[in-house]
Amino acid sequence: MKAAGGNKTSIDRLVPDHIRNFTPYIPSKPDDVLMKMSGCSRLFRLNNNENPLGPPAAARRVIESYPTGRLSIYPSGDAYHLRARLSVLFGLHPDQFLVGNGANEVISFVIKAFCQEGDNIITGDKTFAVYEWVAMFSGFTAKLVPLKEFAFDDEGMLAEIDGRTKVLFLCNPNNPTGSYWSEQKLRRFLDRVAGRQIVVVDEAYCEFVDKGDFPDGMRLIAEYPNLVVFRTFSKMYGLAGLRIGYLAGALEVVDVIRRTCVVYSVNALAQEAALAALEDPDHVPATRELIGREKTRLCRALDGLGLPHVAGEGNFVMVRLPINDALAYRKMMTHGIMVRCMAGFRFPNWVRISISLPEVMERCVDTLAAVVAGDSATG
Ligand SMILES: *Cc1c(COP(=O)(O)O)cnc(C)c1O
Repeated sequence: MKAAGGNKTSIDRLVPDHIRNFTPYIPSKPDDVLMKMSGCSRLFRLNNNENPLGPPAAARRVIESYPTGRLSIYPSGDAYHLRARLSVLFGLHPDQFLVGNGANEVISFVIKAFCQEGDNIITGDKTFAVYEWVAMFSGFTAKLVPLKEFAFDDEGMLAEIDGRTKVLFLCNPNNPTGSYWSEQKLRRFLDRVAGRQIVVVDEAYCEFVDKGDFPDGMRLIAEYPNLVVFRTFSKMYGLAGLRIGYLAGALEVVDVIRRTCVVYSVNALAQEAALAALEDPDHVPATRELIGREKTRLCRALDGLGLPHVAGEGNFVMVRLPINDALAYRKMMTHGIMVRCMAGFRFPNWVRISISLPEVMERCVDTLAAVVAGDSATG
């Protein structure tokens, strides 16, 4: 046997084309490294739509008092208690839920469960990129339908369906544009798909929406057995670091998807914290109040600066800059403000700003004003 490494060509021969051609996502560096690179003494991450209030108090208590002796024990392999609680909350059977290591993981559960060689998925061209990435690095085609006026285009998506389409992904509300489909529009779309494909509705930001016509995917599952709904504890519930999210669907569909789950991917602390987070009565209203108020304030400030922006539902706003987004990013980083460049979302020269606490938003607006004015003095 030959030792591993050294012979590059023999490894190369093992790599499928769809892996060789895939450009991996480069995660941001840790805070200490970024601060050193940018020369700032504090860092405010407004790039990941995290909850500035952190986790609900009820979840904090569970985390702080977690018996460390239990860390040597494997977690429930199927998030038993959490699924039982979700079943009561949403009026579905516990087996209609699958919990994953963040909603990111359940995306790959679905694609693995339904796609085989030659199949495709359909989604928007300017949305959460993980649907497209998982399809591509798994060897499937992602058909990307251009957004229409910053929103998913229902007609465009229906027109792209072919005999090999297995899954349609709708992000509702959409990250990064904040647009959403009303219940009427979603129903019409589901009626026209007519059960021929799986329709995933990613509701990562649904808890931030306060529009009367916004659909609750959970309530549509009984009517549409091809509907799969994603939710996460990373955004509203402030548990992004613990990595926990889930999907829900008809029993028959979830029975299929379950075959692709990796057991024990969801840690015990995340399961307990998520369970507690659901019971906190104050967290969701407090977050919604903060986000609503600060989003309005940010938009007013952007109007004052003459910067075009798109603010819909969700805890983020997209801003169009008169300069290159990567350059603006670097300049803002010197002031400790980290935004999300939108070139990767196919919105060149736009940035996405996550809504945070009032003092952070003020610092962000001041920094943006200075950067746009061409004043790159660090501070
Ligand atoms: C953040 C996000 C998710 C996934 O979050 P996890 O942290 O993996 O649970 C899924 N979909 C959208 C649209 C998101 O913005």
